[in-house]
This record gives sequence, C-alpha cells and structure tokens, in this order.
Amino acid sequence: TRRTIIAGNWKMNTRADGAAELAKAVADAAGQTPAVEVAVCPPSVYLSRVGEVLAGSNVGLGAQNLYAAEDGAYTGEVNAAMLSDVGCRYVILGHSERRALLGETDQQVSEKLAAALAGNLVPIVCVGETLEDREANRTEAVVETQIRGSLAGLDETRAAGVVVAYEPVWAIGTGKTATPEQAEEVHAFIRKLLAELFTAEIADQIRIQYGGSVKPGNANELLGQPNIDGALVGGASLKADDFQAIIKAG
Ligand code: 13P
Repeated sequence: TRRTIIAGNWKMNTRADGAAELAKAVADAAGQTPAVEVAVCPPSVYLSRVGEVLAGSNVGLGAQNLYAAEDGAYTGEVNAAMLSDVGCRYVILGHSERRALLGETDQQVSEKLAAALAGNLVPIVCVGETLEDREANRTEAVVETQIRGSLAGLDETRAAGVVVAYEPVWAIGTGKTATPEQAEEVHAFIRKLLAELFTAEIADQIRIQYGGSVKPGNANELLGQPNIDGALVGGASLKADDFQAIIKAG
C-alpha cells in the first residue's frame, strides 16, 4: 500500500508570475485528490514564491538539486538547510540531465542523498539507461550500478522514505514513452535489488516513480502497473490541464 506520488519537475522553465499561476492550478487539482501525494519542483529562484502559493494546500514543494555541504564558500550553490528554510519537503537528485550535462556521478548523488536526509528532505533519486545502453541489453546493469552507487551508505532506517525515479533517458522529452510493460520490468528489477540492499519489507515501502514523456494519455496505464508508484513529470507538468489530468490518474 504505497501512496502514489506525482511530482512535476519544471526543470529550467517558467517565470515568477507563470510559476505562481501554475502552482495555484496544481493546488486546486491536488485538493480534489487527497489520496495522491503531489509535489512541484520549480527552479530554485522561484521556490519561495511558489511556496507562498502552496501554503495551506496539500502540494509539497521540491527542489531540483542541492549541494552537499554546510554553509560556506561554495559560490552558486544551495544546501539542504536553505531548501528546507524556504519550505521544501522534496529534492530531486541525480537527474539524468545533471548526470549528462554536469557530469554528476553516483558518488556525488550518494553524498547529496545523505545531505538531503540529514536536512529532513525527501530525496527523489533518479536513475535510467540511455538508448545505447538499452540497445546493448545493458539496462539492468546500468540501473543496478546507479542504484548501488547512488544509494551507497544509505542507512537502512532511512531507506523506506527515499523515492526512486526510473527515467529512461531515451524517453525524456522525446515523446517516446516506455511501454507499461517495459517500465514495469525495470521497476520490478529495481524493487528486487532494493530488497537485496535492504530488506524485502523496506523494498516494499519504497516508492518508485516512472518518468519520461508521461502524459494524460498514458498515465493511467503506467500508474496501473504493480511496481509503478507514481510519476516524475517534465513537459506535461508545465501545462496545468495536463498535470491536473495526470494527478487524477494517480
Ligand atoms: P518529460 O516528462 O518532459 O519527458 O521529462 C521527464 C523528466 O525528466 C522528469 O524529471
């Protein structure tokens, strides 16, 4: 009985007014579907503004990244305490765009994970294979390496509160969604791996979101799979109507 979690990753999009308007629409939709856990992750400069709009609603605020250090000389970075201070409950970690564009490694993701948990944030840890990996039948090997590396050092007592997002890179922003069967296969594999890393009971509690071209038209079927516990939505989370429809499917 894992509670479905639908999160919008706005990536590097929106401006202040549009962000506030979108957040308001999400809060309205989430108010009608209390069984679903909903979060939005705006760019860090808009976290405060969006947080004000979400106050009193049941939509959680999330960040898209953090830096794993206490306050200090880290120009340009933002830490868990700051995210928490502006009202964040969630933080996305190790998104494939950061891995690809900024060279973020599993080791760094594991450090960020520890910092997020120490700061009482709910981490959403992203993993997923490239098209090249999939075509070479390396999907499970790649995902296993990412999970083992990104969750390295994760204390068993905190593991159940971590959210994993399986986002096949070839399905992100491409309009190519993994079929429900393809996604379910990897989700089941991840859960089996989590049971090996922790316990079957803990693995049973960890929510695994699917991400990659989730749309109103495919959300129902994806979310209907036994091991798909939510969605991490990019493009469609920027359109109020689409994101509202995905929340309703949850
Ligand atoms: P799209 O929904 O735009 O494919 O993005 C998915 C994603 O990367 C969410 O983190």
